[in-house]
Amino acid sequence: MGYTDDSKEKVRDAVDFVDLVGSRTELRRAGVNRYTGLCPFHDERSPSFGIDPSEKLYHCFGCGAGGDVFRFVEETESLRFGEALELLADRYNVTLERTEEDPRAAEKRERRDRLLGLLERTAAYYVRQLWEAPEATDAREYLASRGLEEATLREFRVGFSPPAWDRVVRASLGAGYSASELVGSGLASPSRGRDGLVDRFRGRLMFPWADSRGRVLGFGARALAPDDQPKYLNSSEGEVFHKGRQMYGTHLARTAAAKAGSVVLVEGYTDVIALHQAGIRHAVGQMGTALAEGQAGELAKLAPSVSLCLDADAAGQEAMLRAAAVLRGLRQPPEVRVVPLPPGSDPAEVATGPEGTHEVGGMLGRAVPFARWEIELALSRGDLSGAEGRDRVLAATSAVIARLPQSVLREELVRLVAGRLELSEALAASALGVRAGGGGRPARAEAGGNGAQRAMTRREDAEHAFLAFCLAFPGAGQKRLDALDPDALLSTDLVRRAAAHLREHLSRPASGLPPDDEPLSGLIAEIVLRARSLEDADTSELERTALMLDLARLDRAIATARASQDPVSDLAMERQRVRAELRRLTH
Ligand code: ZN
Repeated sequence: MGYTDDSKEKVRDAVDFVDLVGSRTELRRAGVNRYTGLCPFHDERSPSFGIDPSEKLYHCFGCGAGGDVFRFVEETESLRFGEALELLADRYNVTLERTEEDPRAAEKRERRDRLLGLLERTAAYYVRQLWEAPEATDAREYLASRGLEEATLREFRVGFSPPAWDRVVRASLGAGYSASELVGSGLASPSRGRDGLVDRFRGRLMFPWADSRGRVLGFGARALAPDDQPKYLNSSEGEVFHKGRQMYGTHLARTAAAKAGSVVLVEGYTDVIALHQAGIRHAVGQMGTALAEGQAGELAKLAPSVSLCLDADAAGQEAMLRAAAVLRGLRQPPEVRVVPLPPGSDPAEVATGPEGTHEVGGMLGRAVPFARWEIELALSRGDLSGAEGRDRVLAATSAVIARLPQSVLREELVRLVAGRLELSEALAASALGVRAGGGGRPARAEAGGNGAQRAMTRREDAEHAFLAFCLAFPGAGQKRLDALDPDALLSTDLVRRAAAHLREHLSRPASGLPPDDEPLSGLIAEIVLRARSLEDADTSELERTALMLDLARLDRAIATARASQDPVSDLAMERQRVRAELRRLTH
C-alpha cells in the first residue's frame, strides 16, 4: 500500500518550509534562497544549519543531517516515511491518492479502515457518556479525586462504557457494522448462553490506545466497582490492537519527546495524563508490569534517552530492572535513566499536588544514570554487616560495573561501592573487575546517525563542489552535466546517482527524489545548500572545479598506466594542458 508520486509532490509543494523548520529553530535570511539557523539536530553555538525555502531542502555542515521536507519530519517527529507524508498531508490539507492495489490487499485495507472507523465512533460515544450520562457520576468523581481536569481528560479522550449489556453492539449494528467487524475490533464478544454479541466493556473507565497519528486502535478499561474483576481489562488482541507493540500516549508525546531528546516512561494511565497536565508532555505509559520487546522498540524510536519513572515500591523496582534489560537488548539501545520518586507515591500524585508542575520538573531533573540507580539498589538491599553479605553485594555490583565503558561515571561508582563496603578503592576496583587506567570496554562513540559524520575525502569534496557549481550556474551547469562521464570522473556510486538526478532535475533538484534513498536526498540537500551560498561566486569557479575533476581523472589514469607499464606521454601532455588552464583561471 502506498501513495502516488503525484500526491507526494503535491504535499511537497503545499509545505511552507520556512514555517515548518522555523518551529524547530529560529531562522535568518542569508541569501535569496537560503536561511540559516542553529541546527535542531546537534548542539551548536554558531549556525551551520541552512535551508533552501524554495527547494525545501535542509543541510547541516556541522553534523551532516540533511534531506527534504519528508526527511525533516521523519527526523524531528520520529516517524517513518509514510507517517511523515500523512502528517504533512493532514497539516497542509492535501488529499493523498493511493497507488493501485491488488484486490486482496485493497479488501484488507478496506476492512481495516472500517474497523478503525468503528473504534473511532465508539471512542467518541464513550467520551460523551463520561461527560453526559448520569450513570457516569462515579467515574467523574473518581477522576476528579485524582486531580485530573476535564480539558486534559478530553485531550486523551478518556470515556465511560455504560453498564448495560449491549449498547455498543446495538448502536454499531444499527449503523451498518457487522457482527464480524464488532468482534474484529475487540469491542464485542459472543454472548455466553444466548445468541448474539455482548459489549466487552461495561461500566468502566475507558482509556483509548492510539497509533502515532492518534487513530484509536483499542482500549484499556478500568473497573470502578471494587468487586468488578479484573481491575484492568484491555481490548482483546485482534486485527488492529496489539498491546505488545503499543505505548500509551505516544501520539501526544511524540513531538515533545523528539524536541526534548528524551521520553519519560510511567506505569499507569492516570500517571501519563497527570504528567501531561503538569506540562510534562514527553511522557508515555507502558501499562502492565513488564515492558514488551516491541514496546521497547517503539519507546526507543521516540527519543535517544528514556527516563524510567515507575513506582518506588519493590514491584516498580523489578519492573525497572526488566525494562532496562529489554532496552539494553535493542539494536540501538537508548540511554536509560531513573527518576527518583518519593517512597510510596506514584507520578500522578506528585504531578497533581499543589506544586505539581514544579515538583515533577525537579524530580525529572534529579534522574540518575540507570547504572548508578542499580548500584544503589544493590547496596540498599544487601546486608552489609557481615563478610558474606558484602561479598554478595560486591558480586551484584560488579555485574553492573562490567557493562560500563571506562568513564567518570564508572570511577564514581567504584568509589561509591568501595566507600559503602569499606574497602580500599584499589581493592574494590580489582574486585569489581576494573583495571586502573584502562581496561573495560572503550567508551562508545557518540550514538545516533546524525552525530557521526564520516570525514569527507578531498576527492569527494571536489566532486560535491563541482555539482554545487553546476546548480549555482544552471545554464553552464546543465551543459557540463550532459557532457559528464560519471564513471571516469566521479568516485562513488552515490555521487554518480546525485549527478544523474541533477542532470534531470537541475531546475527543481528536490523533485523526483526517491523516498527510500535517504543518502541521495541527504547529498542533494548538501549540494543545494552549498550552491545557495555560492550566489555571488564567479562562473569561472564552475570551470575550475570541472578542471579539478579532470585533473584527478588524469592522475588516476597515469597511475594505472604506470602500474601496467603502458606509455604515459599522451596522458601527461593532456595533464599539462589541464594544469595550464587551471593556472590561467586562478591568476
Ligand atoms: Zn547539525
